[in-house]
Amino acid sequence: MSQVRSSVAELDRIRLWHPFTQQAEWERDDPLVIAAGEGSWLIDESGRRYLDGNASLWVNVHGHRRPEIDTAVREQLDRIAHTTFLGLTNPPAVAFADALLETAPPGLTRAFLSESGASACEVAIKLALRYAQLRGETRRTRIVGLRNGYHGDTLGAVSAGGIDAFHAAFAPLLGPALHAPSPIDDPAAGGLAELLAEQGDEVFAVIVEPLIQAAAGILVAPEGWLARARELCDEAGCLLICDEVAVGLGRTGTFWASEREGVAPDILCCGKGLTGGYLPLSATLVREELYESFLGGPERTFYHGHSYSGNPLACAAACASLALYEQDGTIGNVDRQSERLRARLAAAPYPVRGHGLMLAVAGGGAAVCRAARNHGLVIRPLGDAIVVCPPLSIRDEESDLLADALLAAYADVA
Ligand SMILES: *Cc1c(COP(=O)(O)O)cnc(C)c1O
Repeated sequence: MSQVRSSVAELDRIRLWHPFTQQAEWERDDPLVIAAGEGSWLIDESGRRYLDGNASLWVNVHGHRRPEIDTAVREQLDRIAHTTFLGLTNPPAVAFADALLETAPPGLTRAFLSESGASACEVAIKLALRYAQLRGETRRTRIVGLRNGYHGDTLGAVSAGGIDAFHAAFAPLLGPALHAPSPIDDPAAGGLAELLAEQGDEVFAVIVEPLIQAAAGILVAPEGWLARARELCDEAGCLLICDEVAVGLGRTGTFWASEREGVAPDILCCGKGLTGGYLPLSATLVREELYESFLGGPERTFYHGHSYSGNPLACAAACASLALYEQDGTIGNVDRQSERLRARLAAAPYPVRGHGLMLAVAGGGAAVCRAARNHGLVIRPLGDAIVVCPPLSIRDEESDLLADALLAAYADVA
């Protein structure tokens, strides 16, 4: 192999296809090759360090190479890496589900495990439809999503999604979903009320991202919107599914975003930060009566599963991660660093929005993100907005460095 072809970047250029990436641009650019990490930092092949400003796409919680999580994974590796969850169970999966449900909003008592946020949402949608069918409510065949909503990239999740740039092209493959306006355009949920008044008897569930529509650009819902949606679902006799894949697990300053308005969903989806950002794992949490409706003969079985459901390595990482919140005072740090970042980013040329450590500066886009790299910061845009979403363990001096690097990048581009 030639010197050039053996470089990771060159081989990537000819062999790989990256998610959500225009490869024509990717092939022209010099890709950053991350070889290692430590705490809030990513380290490239030549040893240069960059702050992980988007927590490796919103998944990292306690920093990279946290000894407690590393050890939990290593110890599990000495026992077994994987065994199926179909017909068998394993200690880390049981311990994880128990610990997770201890944190859950009231009424959620059962966990169905999968490996991605998209899968957690597929499971939620399929379970909700089956629940209606098993109760004899066969007229209820529609899921309601929101404009600007994002629930992952599998087809059920895309059906419920509402970001045209991502979703419109796949219309021929999609199920018959209904869409209500985004909370940012419908502060009193009048659009959702109208839709449910007209077609509520055909609807089995409404799926929402509570508090923040993340993938659409960190769009913050007006206060009271979620509580109103809960009331409307109760009136329509349909389920409320809260997709907390992005906003859950402390990211927005409470352990669950639904907590902020005292809302308990019928189904809660979580993923991303569950393992602290180490391994793929997601969960769909449901109420006991929903679970009970599936008890009976084979016709009531929930026919859904994945090869790696209940993976012991992922569950061991998740147990270790969940245990760290209290030890580290993670939620308190989210508030503290959020305030610190907001204070420093007040000098940015655009306003900052968001909650906790899910923030966005409302302009600058890809050009500023590219410039930020020269200041030792990895960060990504969503449209024009720049998402500031570091590990929840970020420290004072690192928050300051992050904000200063971003301000320097704005100055470079101006
Ligand atoms: C990221 C995300 C998903 C999809 O999770 P994957 O693990 O990428 O499949 C679903 N819902 C929300 C709200 C997300 O932010």
